[in-house]
Parts: sequence; structure tokens; C-alpha cells
Amino acid sequence: MNFKVDMVRAGTHGRKVVRPMRPRYITIHSTQNYTAGAERHSVALKRGALRSPKTRTGNRIGYLIWHYTVDDSVAIQHMPTTEQGEHADFGGPGNRLSIGIEMCENRGNNLQVTIDHTAMLTAVLMKRNGIPLRNVVPHYHWPRRGRNPPNKNCPHFLLEGGRPGPKWRKFLRHVNMHYQRLN
Ligand SMILES: [Zn+2]
Repeated sequence: MNFKVDMVRAGTHGRKVVRPMRPRYITIHSTQNYTAGAERHSVALKRGALRSPKTRTGNRIGYLIWHYTVDDSVAIQHMPTTEQGEHADFGGPGNRLSIGIEMCENRGNNLQVTIDHTAMLTAVLMKRNGIPLRNVVPHYHWPRRGRNPPNKNCPHFLLEGGRPGPKWRKFLRHVNMHYQRLN
């Protein structure tokens, strides 16, 4: 798997406000964008193209930002894991305490390879940050205050009926297999 660091410039867009973080969780998402892979998401984040309305109970900075985007060829890091992103639950613990990983699902992208790369990256980040498997969670895990439904169907292709089930448990076993290999 190829790793690439291509940070959003400090002080701009999603990194305009630096909020330190000591990560305790890893949150898994899917982009629900069927046209862009990891490179195009990286460009969009660097340009500040992914905006989100800033409201009292919503997005804190007016931009979406997360730590890694993964597709079938590369995992790109957009911001340090020591800074809070804006990808999960506004001012909630998902944003304040977790590393956000987005899986691409653009046409032509191999989803199984993407899931495998994501499992491997997750294992590396668990080891590097001392994060246990039980703290690897789907976006679904973090309720979004003021939204209906509060728990998002994300990453939708690893959930069943909009909630974690056998597919999510299989993903966690996959993460754990990679994690055990690192030890
Ligand atoms: Zn999500």
C-alpha cells in the first residue's frame, strides 16, 4: 500500500483553527462521492472546496476535514493526527478524540482493496497511538446532535439496515488480523 502525506496547509481552510488532539478513537467513514478518489479529495481539501454550514450546533469551522483518505491505490494524509478534524459529530467526542478515515467509493475503484488498505492503515494507527480495537468505530457510533436520524448510515457498505452488524464485525476482525501481524 502506498502512503502519501499531502497536508492541507496549516492555518488554511479546514486547518484554519488548530485544535490539539490526543487521539483515543479511530472513526471509519465512506465518502458517498461516486466520482472522486483519494487524490481528488486531497486537492479539494487543500483548496478549501469542501465547505459545511457553520451553525451553533453544527460544523465548528465552516469546512469539512479529516485525517486520511484511502482508495485502491493510495492512502493520503491531510492533517496531523494531533489535530482535531471536522468529520463526525460537530463539537462531540467523535471530532474531539478521533482520527477520521474516509474510504473512497468512486466508480472504477476496487472497494475490497480499499477496505483492506483501510484495515491496514487502521492497525498501524492503533499501534502508533495505543488505541484498542474496541475504539475503532463507524461514523454511525457518534450521534449528531440536532440531526434526524442522529446516527448516520456511514460507512454504509459496512453496515446493515443502517447499523453495525456482521459486515462491521468482519471488518474489525480484518483490522485485528493486521494489528496482530504488526506485533
Ligand atoms: Zn461519515
